[in-house]
Amino acid sequence: MSYDTNNVFAKILRGEIPCFKLFEDAHTLAFMDIMPQTEGHALVIPKEAATTLFELSDEAAAAVMRTVRKVGLAQKAALGAQGVVLMQLNGEAAGQTVPHFHVHVIPGSIADLRKPHATATGDMGQIKALAEKIAAAVQA
Ligand code: 5GP
Repeated sequence: MSYDTNNVFAKILRGEIPCFKLFEDAHTLAFMDIMPQTEGHALVIPKEAATTLFELSDEAAAAVMRTVRKVGLAQKAALGAQGVVLMQLNGEAAGQTVPHFHVHVIPGSIADLRKPHATATGDMGQIKALAEKIAAAVQA
């Protein structure tokens, strides 16, 4: 699958559409999922253009995991999350809906993921408030 530069995460990276940012460094961006499956559901993406894990460079994969760890720790600190679920879908056949590699960082338990994936837009005020709490707890 060739990389689609018009996918929604590429647009977020270019600043063409807004996001509730949690953390950014030279190689990655972390922000809130607007159709959260639990309160605090976040996404971490590389700045590198890659559709799935199988096109991503080793360096970008390592950078993403460093940011995933920061975000998960911040969710634990800010929201009191006892558990953090990571989800990462590769290809339409797996259910991937946005063709830019990303890791879902979901505070809670696998048992909390009863809400269907990527369907209902959440309450933007609540997502913004959660974003502010998590972002404030991210350790640089
Ligand atoms: P995937 O299905 O590709 O694993 O996950 C894509 C995720 O992106 C879904 O959880 C969906 O809710 C989220 N998403 C889709 N469009 C947007 C958007 O415009 N902004 C944000 N922040 N998240 C989005």
